[in-house]
Amino acid sequence: MQTITAIDDLRATLTSARKDGKTIGFVPTMGFLHQGHLSLMQRAREENDIVVVSIFVNPTQFGPNEDLDAYPRDARKDSQLMAAESVDIAFFPTTDTLYPEGYTTFVEVEGSMTQVMCGRSRPTHFRGVTTIVAKLFNLVAPDRAYFGQKDAQQVAVICKMAHDLDFDLQVVVCPIVREDDGLAMSSRNTYLTANQRKHAPALYRSLQMASEMISNGERSASAVQNAIESQINAAEEAVIDYITLVNAQTMEEVHTLEGEILIALAVKFGATRLIDNIRVTV
Ligand code: AMP
Repeated sequence: MQTITAIDDLRATLTSARKDGKTIGFVPTMGFLHQGHLSLMQRAREENDIVVVSIFVNPTQFGPNEDLDAYPRDARKDSQLMAAESVDIAFFPTTDTLYPEGYTTFVEVEGSMTQVMCGRSRPTHFRGVTTIVAKLFNLVAPDRAYFGQKDAQQVAVICKMAHDLDFDLQVVVCPIVREDDGLAMSSRNTYLTANQRKHAPALYRSLQMASEMISNGERSASAVQNAIESQINAAEEAVIDYITLVNAQTMEEVHTLEGEILIALAVKFGATRLIDNIRVTV
């Protein structure tokens, strides 16, 4: 595995691979890798000649009072995990490389898609995500880019950006990887206290219950939403940010359940905000 920090080195290596007719799969991450990230790398490994992974804790997607400084980092362990997945290039850019002094350009998907759900509690988040992902797409110019369904709204926003800006690549969406008790894997799970960790699986349990209600014929979004809310409120320390049922592509809220539905939620345990979701076809 080649570790690269400079843009010129990344471009030179990838230009030569492309000249040799090699396909490039790209997995952008913020590091502190877990099985969720590794599943994206495995899929990229299966489908491409060259696998590039970026590790960059992107400051522009964090709000002023969020956990940018506290965000967990472990470059050495990440490198070992990437090497074990036969990643070809680990790209570790610095903040100064990607946002040098005088940097002023941002990419933003406008409209309700970025204003609802996580966009409501994190108003500048998606602008930061689309800016960094657009920059990384330009730098890596992959054939395929891999994202997790864990961040369902992020995937929808990136697909919209890639479509609107004519990026010549395929966005591949990979399933959510969970702990044995159902908690969606996340670098932020390390923040949870023992008691919060014990109660955090209530998120997925409530989503499974919701999915069952719908299989059993429930068609009212508010009935499903209320049932999830009661179940999560019964979990110690859980404070609901949002619970919503939306169209899985547009993130528009639905009232009567029909078609491809995303049931998504964000719940805080202390200062730690967890998100999870499930897709159902009605
Ligand atoms: P992050 O490092 O949190 O920015 O995540 C990098 C990528 O890994 C994103 O596309 C996430 O959606 C994806 N990812 C994070 N957690 C999981 C998970 N539990 N299962 C599948 N993909 C995940």
